[in-house]
Amino acid sequence: MKALVVGGGIAGPATALALQHVGIEAVVLEAWPRSDGEAGSWFTLAANGLHALDVLGARHLVSRIGFPSERNVMIGATGRTLGTMSLGVPLADGTVAMTMKRSRLAAALVDEAVRRGVDVRHDARVVDVASRPDGVTVTLQDGSTVEADLLVGADGVRSLVRRTIDPAAAAARYVGLTNFGGFTTATPLAAHLPARQWHFVFGSRAFFGAHPTPEGDVVWFVNVPGRAITPAERAARTPQQWRDHLVDLLVDDAGPAADLVRSGRLELWADNTHDLPRVARWHRDRMVVVGEAAHAPSPSSGQGASLALEDAVVLATCLRDAATVEEALTAYDSARRRRVERIVAAGARSSSSKIPGRAGRAVRDTMMRLVFRFVVTERSSAWITGHRVGWEPAEGPALPSGA
Ligand SMILES: Cc1cc2nc3c(=O)[nH]c(=O)nc-3n(C[C@H](O)[C@H](O)[C@H](O)COP(=O)(O)OP(=O)(O)OC[C@H]3O[C@@H](n4cnc5c(N)ncnc54)[C@H](O)[C@@H]3O)c2cc1C
Repeated sequence: MKALVVGGGIAGPATALALQHVGIEAVVLEAWPRSDGEAGSWFTLAANGLHALDVLGARHLVSRIGFPSERNVMIGATGRTLGTMSLGVPLADGTVAMTMKRSRLAAALVDEAVRRGVDVRHDARVVDVASRPDGVTVTLQDGSTVEADLLVGADGVRSLVRRTIDPAAAAARYVGLTNFGGFTTATPLAAHLPARQWHFVFGSRAFFGAHPTPEGDVVWFVNVPGRAITPAERAARTPQQWRDHLVDLLVDDAGPAADLVRSGRLELWADNTHDLPRVARWHRDRMVVVGEAAHAPSPSSGQGASLALEDAVVLATCLRDAATVEEALTAYDSARRRRVERIVAAGARSSSSKIPGRAGRAVRDTMMRLVFRFVVTERSSAWITGHRVGWEPAEGPALPSGA
């Protein structure tokens, strides 16, 4: 069987590696030229995603490009600690999570797929898909066509494959937060942040996150509540002006946030945050979607990439074990849907907790302390990061009752 995988982000090369493992030839088609891996934001891969990488024989890639993250510390706008929480259920060797640049992981996965003999084509934007019950023909932007027995849409939150499967499919939803990310090099402010921890501030006008690197730099991001930023508004300010705007939003909050942003460089700015709550159809004929093409939790969930890696393993396992492609795609849907939709819903709740309401700073801090003591706890989140996929036949979703 030959599969075309549309998308060379996280889900695409991971799916190609998984398909290759079960004896399916995969060709990856990526719209953009090969990246140097330096663009965009940082993210944290949780233990469930690291485990999926392990299953793919690719976990060594993250030890080259990432650093360990063990805990989240939540701070109020007044500087009061609201709670601390482990980043999840550790792997057998004690690793809890790893933080890295998203684009470096995508580039490393693509390189690994190429090293294992997968045909990865860049500058190969898919513009049309013709589906038949026994296969697909895709048309690329240069007018050429490619045929395959199976099409996997790993083409992200604005997926063409999702719209081809179901033209009425839901579009991504703006979650009320704009996103900015940056990096402050070799700063004495890193000493104010405990190692291996995300430091989150529920600020009075914006949510701030920072993590020191082992080299003494600091990775940070700012979520600003409000309506979505239009392309014209984004272009109307230089990155320097956007950074000054962030400093104004953070300056009244306790801690080093404003100083870190003032002395750092912006790597991502005025990015509107979306999620994708429910896609009714993940497959039709010989087409299926994985990763953010199928289910995009808001970045606040910290789970998008981990779920994409889980999908890759489960889809390949279903294709290996089922009698027909149709049965395999149905089994993949039923193995994954309940889990991922619950995580998208949890991510949406996490996003809304970053939007300050009308309560004053002290009242909000008290409410958040109660939330981190009784509602959002290590125990209540264990079903997310403690999930483990593998090559054994796929089963239903592992969720505790009431999760
Ligand atoms: C600011 C931010 C912070 C985040 N933080 C975290 C975090 O801490 N932890 C976490 O797990 N996740 C996080 N995420 C989510 C994570 O980045 C995504 O879940 C992950 O990148 C999804 O991978 P994907 O491969 O499904 O989609 P993408 O990474 O979007 O890849 C899709 C690929 O498909 C290509 N493509 C699209 N259309 C076509 C076409 N027609 N033809 C050919 N190629 C096409 C695109 O160019 C792209 O390379 C965050 C996301 C954001 C935006």
